[in-house]
Amino acid sequence: MKKVILIKYGELTTKKDNRNFFIRTLRKNILSKLSNFDFEIVDDYYRMFIIPSSDEDIDLIVENLKNIFGIHEIVVAFMSEDISENNIKEMSLKIMKDLDFKTFKVETKRSDKTYPIKSMDMNNIIGSHILKNIDCNVDVHMPDTILNVEIRKEAVYIYNTSIPGLGGYPVGTLGRGLLMLSGGIDSPVAGYLTIKRGVELYYLYFESRPHTSIEARNKVISLARKLEKYNSKGKLLVVNFTKIQEAIYKNLDPSYLITIMRRKMYTIAEKLAKRYNCLAIINGESIGQVASQTLSSILSVNDVTNYPILRPLCSFDKLDIIDISKKIDTYDISILPYEDCCTVFVPKHPVINPNLKHIYEEESKFDFEPLIQEAVKTVEVVDLEEKISDLL
Ligand code: ATP
Ligand code: MG
Repeated sequence: MKKVILIKYGELTTKKDNRNFFIRTLRKNILSKLSNFDFEIVDDYYRMFIIPSSDEDIDLIVENLKNIFGIHEIVVAFMSEDISENNIKEMSLKIMKDLDFKTFKVETKRSDKTYPIKSMDMNNIIGSHILKNIDCNVDVHMPDTILNVEIRKEAVYIYNTSIPGLGGYPVGTLGRGLLMLSGGIDSPVAGYLTIKRGVELYYLYFESRPHTSIEARNKVISLARKLEKYNSKGKLLVVNFTKIQEAIYKNLDPSYLITIMRRKMYTIAEKLAKRYNCLAIINGESIGQVASQTLSSILSVNDVTNYPILRPLCSFDKLDIIDISKKIDTYDISILPYEDCCTVFVPKHPVINPNLKHIYEEESKFDFEPLIQEAVKTVEVVDLEEKISDLL
C-alpha cells in the first residue's frame, strides 16, 4: 500500500456550472505552488488525488496545501490498487494497529457501484476483522476514531484523519483585483480575505520619497510577499505620490488634506486598475476607525470614481483584524515603525464630516491633472522575487 493525499473541494460544490473551471484552476494553482515536488494529480468531479513519487514528501506537500484556497479538507490516505475484500481487510487492520483508540466505526463508500459487496456489508466485514484482532469496541455514535474506506474502480483509499483546508475559492477563478497596500495592519488582511474569495491580486503602493523611506517601501514589499503565499503571481505597482501630496499640502485647506489626498489615490487607483485588467479596487478601510473612515469621509472620497471599491474589513473590530494578521504572519512586519505617506502629512484637525462643495472649491485652486497623469505614467512595477535587505 502507498500513501496518497486526497483533497476535498468543499464550497466548489455549490458552483455547478463552473465546477470544471474551478477544479482546473485549483489543479493549476496546486501545480504552481508545489512545483518543487515530484507527484502526479488525478482528479474527478468530487475529489483530487495527489500521488507523490516519494512518501517522504507527504508532510511538506500537506503543509503547502494548507495555504491553497479552494481546498476544504486534506486527507492522507493509504491506497492500493488491489481492491479485493481480503486486501481491504488486511490494510484496514494494519492501519488500525498503529492507532491509539478504544472505540471505532467503519464508514465505507463505494463510488464504484458494480463492486460486489455493499457498503453496509463491507463495514461489517472490516469491523469484525478489527474486533477479532484488536482489543476494542464498535461505537457508531461517538467513536474515538472513524476508519474511512473509499472503494473506487481503480483503487481503494483508506484513512482516518483529515486536516482542515483554508476553504474559499481557487485563486484566479473570480478575476483580478487591485489591493491598495500600505504598510499598516489592515490592508494585508483585507487582501488575504479577498484572495480567499478567488480574486487574484495586484498590489498598489503610493510612496512619497523622500518624506517616506526605502524601509517603508521594503515593508510593503515584505507584506506583498507574505500575501504571495496565497496569491498567484502578483505584481506590486509603486506610484510616486510626492508631487501630488506636496501640492495638496502647500495649496489647500489643511483640514481637508487627507480627504483630498485619498481622492487622488482613488483616481489613480482606478486608472491603474483599468490598465492592469483589475475588476475592483480593494482597501483596508473599516468604518469609523479613523477620521478618514467615517461614512461621510468614505462618501466624499468615493465620489471620484464609479469603480467597485471593496472594503472587506468595513465591519471588523481592530482586535479581530489583528488576530488575522497574526495568523497570516503579517502583523510583525506591519508594526515596524516606518512612516507611510498618510502619516507624514497628518493635519492637526482632520475633518470628520467633509463637505463636497468645499472639496470642489479647494480642488479648483490647483490643477492636479498633469500630476495625476505623470504619476500614472511613471508607475514602477516591482519584482516581488527580488532580494531586499533586513526585513522579517
Ligand atoms: P492600514 O493599517 O492598512 O495602513 P489604516 O487604518 O492605517 O490602514 P488609512 O491610512 O486611512 O488606514 O488607509 C486606509 C486604506 O487606504 C489602507 O488600508 C490601504 O488600503 C489604503 N492606503 C493607505 N495608505 C496607502 C498607501 N500609501 N498606499 C496604498 N494604499 C494605501
Ligand atoms: Mg495606513
